[in-house]
Amino acid sequence: MNADCSGKHGRRQLREGLKAAGQFDEFQVAGRLFPVACVALEITQRCNLDCTLCYLSENAEQAYDVPLVVLFQRIAMVHRRYGPGATIQITGGDPTLRKVEDIEALCQEIRRLNMRSCLMTNGIRANRPFLARLAQAGLNDVAFHVDLTQERVGFESESALNAVRKDYIGRARNLGLRILFNTTVYPGNLAEVPALCQFFRSQARYVSLVSFQMQADTGRGAADKRDIALTQDVLSDHISAGFNVDFPSKMGIGHSECSRYDHLAISGDRAVSFLANKALLKRVISTLEHVDTSGRVVADLPDMIRKAPLCDPIMVLRFATELLKMIWRLRSGLWAGRGRVSRMSVVLHSLMDAKALVTERCEACVFMVATSTGPVSMCEFNAERDAHLFKPVSLNADGKETWWSAATGQMTDTPYYGLPPSPKFKQMKGRERAAEMRRRGKPI
Ligand code: SF4
Repeated sequence: MNADCSGKHGRRQLREGLKAAGQFDEFQVAGRLFPVACVALEITQRCNLDCTLCYLSENAEQAYDVPLVVLFQRIAMVHRRYGPGATIQITGGDPTLRKVEDIEALCQEIRRLNMRSCLMTNGIRANRPFLARLAQAGLNDVAFHVDLTQERVGFESESALNAVRKDYIGRARNLGLRILFNTTVYPGNLAEVPALCQFFRSQARYVSLVSFQMQADTGRGAADKRDIALTQDVLSDHISAGFNVDFPSKMGIGHSECSRYDHLAISGDRAVSFLANKALLKRVISTLEHVDTSGRVVADLPDMIRKAPLCDPIMVLRFATELLKMIWRLRSGLWAGRGRVSRMSVVLHSLMDAKALVTERCEACVFMVATSTGPVSMCEFNAERDAHLFKPVSLNADGKETWWSAATGQMTDTPYYGLPPSPKFKQMKGRERAAEMRRRGKPI
């Protein structure tokens, strides 16, 4: 076990992975400023939707929820590996299907260890009192997943779904939470991405980060396989058109085939990148590399810059010049937006197909999953979900080793290695359900 909880060990490991992949140039902040972008803590496999591009396994609905004692062990493991400042995504399935008291306890523990928490939800059960309780318990961020892959009844387009997004913003605003949105992009909604970016830009006052995740051939979802015409470049062009910026910035937040990033200043209907000046960006990154950023995340970059020793007269002059250029480029928006400027991070993430994992990307992964045997790259985890989910978990209760299994939900003296029973029709989701519906001659 690594006794150093500063996150330096995790940072070194990520740096080595990125170097081996030829991805550690002077614009790379992963492995320099943080040891991991986030770690997913899956607290349930149950979900109240059946997304057509769901990454869960066919047996997910049959899995028992991981007990709190095991989740606490995993949080401690994340802290040991990545140190304070790391972000833990409380996710699932949909995590809101668990008792709010359980999620409160997790938020409190994550906060106690000086890490950050983010609730990843489809929002259906996340009403304002629910979110207010979690904010009170120390939750930092709420990330709403809303898009057409969820097949929400009555919503036939991404623009129609903006009503849902606005409702969710209303539930979460002024609670001290950062509001994030996730969108899965596939051929069915690609054309709407520019308009969606414009919607997010109009909500920049409330929304801190938007993440576009490309369709991947992994999990139980009933949709067709990845469309090879939908590439990162194509999606980047759509994002660029929507925000009217040159997306992505030069700054790397991991392997370039996995993630792309920009951080925007937005006013009215104008957006400009904070990261457009490459020389300045390079200088800031190399200065911050030697500052103890305690593994803080990319979203906190402006805060880190404020604290960094970047205040020599030449740098102050360069920052001032850059600021003036940004104000000039924002000018029409500043007028319309009555001088208000908001910040928004934009992320493009591209998970791998389960049957086409690229080792060098997995070894430079910035998006991990907490398992009982340590953090695992999300793509690797997705490719072998059942093997990870149903592996018996060792627990030490009163000095006696016991085992917990997600297949039975039981604690036993000896480990149980089986899978849960096959799902009944009502519990089926994704491809399996679609196939059964076809077999029964019912419309899908
Ligand atoms: S989860 Fe997959 S796509 Fe994302 S950073 Fe890790 S290896 Fe890359």
